[in-house]
Amino acid sequence: MQIIYPYSPLPKYAVRQQDARRFLDKARETYTVTEVECTADRADTNHPYERTVKRLWGQDDLMVFEQDVSSTLRKLAEMEACEQPVCQQAYELHKCFGVIVPGTDNQVICVAHHLPYYAWRVETADKGFRWGRRGDRFADAFCLSTTKFSRQFQQTHEPNWDPGGWHNLDIRISRWAYNLGVKAHLHYPEARHADTLGEAHNLFRLFEVDCNPVIEPLSPEWISLARSQVKEWIMSNAAQVAPGLWSDSET
Ligand SMILES: [Zn+2]
Repeated sequence: MQIIYPYSPLPKYAVRQQDARRFLDKARETYTVTEVECTADRADTNHPYERTVKRLWGQDDLMVFEQDVSSTLRKLAEMEACEQPVCQQAYELHKCFGVIVPGTDNQVICVAHHLPYYAWRVETADKGFRWGRRGDRFADAFCLSTTKFSRQFQQTHEPNWDPGGWHNLDIRISRWAYNLGVKAHLHYPEARHADTLGEAHNLFRLFEVDCNPVIEPLSPEWISLARSQVKEWIMSNAAQVAPGLWSDSET
């Protein structure tokens, strides 16, 4: 089996890549690992990441491990042996919900970090897509972390997905597979995702160091949680934030 490891060379991602790199060092004893540096040039529709996938396509079982996930050799062997055309090891994906702390210069705290999203989507009865849930067996839309394409599947399907930049290669391949009627078979237990490690993600984070902060309307229960956590944050950071910004009457 061939493994492709696309990664960002930016120093801020190095911490999140540590686990993955340790894992890859072990995997190298059994598999061929090709690393591909992904730069910010999203306009390049002939990016080395995509070229590498296409160059290796059809030769052997092919697995893509994105930069911040790690697994075990046993799980790799299981997925390699699985007869499904596309397999993905399950892992959590967070979608941080950030709120801007009032009175600060756009300082954001994450108030809902461990939402149980999983890194795939499943088609719903009304032809929409919901995020993955633990226990799903197949994904209608998958990503390219921990994802295996069987050799037989590659050899019977030309890699002729839509062109685009490296940053949406997962979406393009997944959509292409969906149109072929191919789902990703999900394997458990979950791969480790650096984003979900406690030491990498505290209660609050700043935009500069966060991975995927999302500012969007919060449901009433999250607004309530946000209020209490913002208050807690302000109280413990009183030196930086002017007092009185958060009224008790709002909690
Ligand atoms: Zn499988």
